[in-house]
Amino acid sequence: MVTGGNAGIGLGIARALCDAGCAVSIWGRNPERTARAEQELRSRGGEVHPRICDVTDRDAVERAFGETVQRFGRVDGCFANAGAGGGGRTSFIERTPEEWRAMFAANLDSAFHVFQAAARHMVANAEAGKPGGRLVAVSSMGALFGVARNEHYGASKSAMNALVRALGVELARYGITANAILPGYSATEMAAELFANEKFEKAVKPRIPMRRYGTPEDYGGIAVYFMSDASAYHTADCVVIDGGYSAC
Ligand code: NDP
Repeated sequence: MVTGGNAGIGLGIARALCDAGCAVSIWGRNPERTARAEQELRSRGGEVHPRICDVTDRDAVERAFGETVQRFGRVDGCFANAGAGGGGRTSFIERTPEEWRAMFAANLDSAFHVFQAAARHMVANAEAGKPGGRLVAVSSMGALFGVARNEHYGASKSAMNALVRALGVELARYGITANAILPGYSATEMAAELFANEKFEKAVKPRIPMRRYGTPEDYGGIAVYFMSDASAYHTADCVVIDGGYSAC
């Protein structure tokens, strides 16, 4: 299952998983966008199960997770990808408690809800003799840098990194791995406004060794790797995929 699997990086992950033969449940709030993504994934030959679900709503997550298990029999992997961007408009001293809370609800509470539903299911499977499972958070390179006017976003993503490290340790005994992917600046709707800003384009793009922004497809390979047996011993890690940005 991929939260936010109807657009952007989540859809890139869902496409790659479908192409690799996984049955995929895509979750999002927007019915039209979800229907379009479902259509596209089906046309690639994928087995797709769309769910309309606001992942900040714990009851809705538990309902959608139950429906997903009912549809597929079991859930082998959970990508907590849905999230909100920072915007970068408001300074820290103007940040309202409501903005701060909304960011943590979108990025961190949502991961708590979906990972807990998935982990409970995977642990029960392990106790019934079928160990294994993958928890993957889509965090951000923004967790590693001080980005002005975006402290709430960076803090929520750093917390996601801490979450997967702890889950990787706690759940290893059940054969469950937990990792985070940290994308760099990527061309999706979330970043569209930022990329349209000439000042940003001039300052940031030349700093990326690959000289381009990431695309949703750039995160498909790591998603397939994490869902495969090849990653069985890889856990509690935060993998940066940013075209080299954080190395210079
Ligand atoms: P997009 O805006 O393209 O997609 C966001 C996705 O999340 C949509 O599918 C949206 O679907 C879903 N979503 C958002 N909020 C909720 C919610 N409350 N419940 C359910 N679904 C939700 O953004 P990206 O693809 O760029 O972002 C995906 C992840 O990647 C995010 O966590 C983001 O922080 C991270 N990231 C992005 C970077 C970038 O430069 N683009 C860089 C680093 C990290 P719907 O609207 O239908 O609910």
